[in-house]
Amino acid sequence: MNVYDSDRMVDLLKPLGYSITEDPAEADMAILNTCHIREKAEQKVYSDLGRLRRHQTNRRNDGDDMVIGVGGCVGQAEGKEIIRQAPYVSMVFGPQTYHRLPEMIAQMNREKEKREGKRPKGLIDTDFPLESKFDSLPAPTSSASSVFLSVQEGCDKFCTFCVVPYTRGAEYSRPVSDILKEAEHLVSLGALEITLLGQNVNAYHGQPLYASSHGTKEWGLGRLVFELSQIKGLERIRYMTSHPRDMDDELINAHGEIPQLMPFLHLPVQSGSDSILEAMNRKHTAKDYLNIIEKLKIARPDIAFSSDFIVGFPGEKDTDQEATLTLIKEVGFAQAYSFKYSKRPGTPAGAMELQVDEEIKSKRLRELQDLLNEQQLSFNRSMVGTTQMVLLDRKGKHQGQMIGKTPYMQSVPVVASDDLFGKLVEVRLESAHENSLVGSLTDSAIIPYPMSELLERKDEV
Ligand code: SAH
Ligand code: SF4
Repeated sequence: MNVYDSDRMVDLLKPLGYSITEDPAEADMAILNTCHIREKAEQKVYSDLGRLRRHQTNRRNDGDDMVIGVGGCVGQAEGKEIIRQAPYVSMVFGPQTYHRLPEMIAQMNREKEKREGKRPKGLIDTDFPLESKFDSLPAPTSSASSVFLSVQEGCDKFCTFCVVPYTRGAEYSRPVSDILKEAEHLVSLGALEITLLGQNVNAYHGQPLYASSHGTKEWGLGRLVFELSQIKGLERIRYMTSHPRDMDDELINAHGEIPQLMPFLHLPVQSGSDSILEAMNRKHTAKDYLNIIEKLKIARPDIAFSSDFIVGFPGEKDTDQEATLTLIKEVGFAQAYSFKYSKRPGTPAGAMELQVDEEIKSKRLRELQDLLNEQQLSFNRSMVGTTQMVLLDRKGKHQGQMIGKTPYMQSVPVVASDDLFGKLVEVRLESAHENSLVGSLTDSAIIPYPMSELLERKDEV
């Protein structure tokens, strides 16, 4: 989501004459788009600010300047505390107000003029405005072959460990027509793969495109994905991050019916212990999760799963850890992210008794990750000898090499000519590592018809 937001900030600043630089020493402005989900992410903001300050000082000594802004969820949560700790920061804003960046910059410049060039007082904009920021964002002017598209934001679920409902605000779904327009535009700019984003993307319930015979009921994510699959040239659709409770039948069936919907789903479970899931306020059991996995496998037999796990939630015992390991063994994940529980200010779990020792958290994390890594390697190995479509969207380290993603989000470096950059190619997978596979282009590497055209031809038949 932060990658998507950062790209939108670039779109907003382009008309003001700004362009991206890789070198902070030559930046007129530096914006940190921050994450508040765990304590480490927050600490990183202050160390990054210290680093930027040195560039700012150097530039000032040379008669230039560097405006420093802090956006994202740390901006939202910390507000003026950032200006107090880092008075050289000029703007602090949250994830729901970055569309006002051009106004903030204009205001800052006016202040600067009034103060005869001296640094203006830091501006803070951490509102949750009634108007949707999406209505004020300019249309993207370029697109990578694989892009993100925000369809839903915020969260009303209030898991007891999580800051998202406080920093991103209440749940909001963009209208279907806006999403389709943006998706069509991205495809016209060259996007082949779109990943629909939301903190709770499958809670999506947007204003429908047209009234159905059953009235104007809002559309869920399954219906939205179907509509997107009709866009010619859009070869791959993904979505993240989902909550098990919002995995409805329409969405599950979409996995069986829409070939462009990739057979890989990130569906965080957090824990395999029912008592911990209850304390987390997840409102589902381990069995519920396993049932959803089963239904998805029936709808799409070749589907693979990824998940998030938290170890060391307050009150977690060895038996809870065992339950999580059992669930992992039962599902068999293709990939997963696991974290030590991090106490977040203002969340219910932060105030719970029985916080778990760091040492125990580390031990449990290692145990979990050993098993998850083993599963990832074995999943990757099971792909050796198969051919997969790979979207080449990155240049590799070596000359003549490009890196792409399989339908299962596995990275594959291949030797390929430059004209294949951004294309979907057929690759034979030859060997597997934990985090990647090695492959080579097949003789007919480029499929004669893109998926959407094949579907059209099927319809004609
Ligand atoms: N909406 C998604 C998750 C969004 S947050 C869901 O409900 O599953 C992304 C991930 O960060 C979470 O899945 C969780 O594993 C992790 N996370 C969130 N808060 C955390 C905390 N306080 N400590 C450790 N990990 C946390
Ligand atoms: Fe956070 Fe996800 Fe729970 Fe919402 S559903 S509170 S984003 S973990």
